[in-house]
Amino acid sequence: MRIDLHTHSFASDGTDSPSEVVRAADAAGLDVVALTDHDSMVGLEDAAETAGALGINFVPGVEVSCTHRGVSIHVLAYWPDPSHPDIVSMLERTRAARIDRAKEMVRLIGLDYSLTWEDVLEYAGNADTVGRPHIADALVARGAFANRDDAFAVVLAGNSDYFVPHYAPDVLDAVRTLRSTGAVPVFAHPGADGRGQVVPTSAIEAMARAGLVGLEVEHRDHSEVQRGRLARIAERLDLVHTGASDYHGTGKLNQLGENVTSPAAFEALQALRG
Ligand code: AMP
Ligand code: FE
Ligand code: FE
Ligand code: ZN
Repeated sequence: MRIDLHTHSFASDGTDSPSEVVRAADAAGLDVVALTDHDSMVGLEDAAETAGALGINFVPGVEVSCTHRGVSIHVLAYWPDPSHPDIVSMLERTRAARIDRAKEMVRLIGLDYSLTWEDVLEYAGNADTVGRPHIADALVARGAFANRDDAFAVVLAGNSDYFVPHYAPDVLDAVRTLRSTGAVPVFAHPGADGRGQVVPTSAIEAMARAGLVGLEVEHRDHSEVQRGRLARIAERLDLVHTGASDYHGTGKLNQLGENVTSPAAFEALQALRG
């Protein structure tokens, strides 16, 4: 059994359609795949339908942008209730804030590079959630950078002068909301230090008390040392130890199935589904 519980479609910042993500997962020999777009659930219906036709096990999900004391945190939520008003309004507020934030970043970048908001809209055409990768695509199309990675390294990084943060719910509130509505929250890439700050163990403990179910230990952005530290924390706090690719189509190097979740861990997640 090969289980990949973290992927993105063009409903957020991936490059495949939701159906294409599922088809690619099936072609890659996966038995279970979750679609977890940033702050959006619009791709879940199409993905589930394609999975049903192919006979691959599909897990609906969403990757919820959150903050903890000013640090950005991502929480994967499996089996979210797509019509629960608390979840719908939480995600709507973040998506709206992301548009204002992207416009402001484009305005700042536009002072030094040839870039307009219309350029970005061209690359965010399928997206329900706008993100920095769409700004990257527009800059690449304008010839300013060779690829998304290069654009991130220079103008889109969290410590760049052009970076603007956006509203996101407090992580403890988000975890409580998700858990109390039957979703299964897992802390995504908890060891990644994209903005130069690794989330402290005390924050993971607070998230566990709020209802966190798992830690995504196996992830491309984690070193072996980080995986060891996170595996020990998961063991101690009785959190499910997961792993996944964080596939973004051609938008990132991450390949489907490059990190996976064990069947026992997947069963533990399913058992906590509300
Ligand atoms: P945002 O959600 O707008 O804050 O942008 C963050 C997203 O950008 C993450 O979800 C990643 O998928 C993507 N990202 C971060 N760094 C890179 C990179 N170097 N190359 C491509 N995509 C990246
Ligand atoms: Fe992403
Ligand atoms: Fe993430
Ligand atoms: Zn992700």
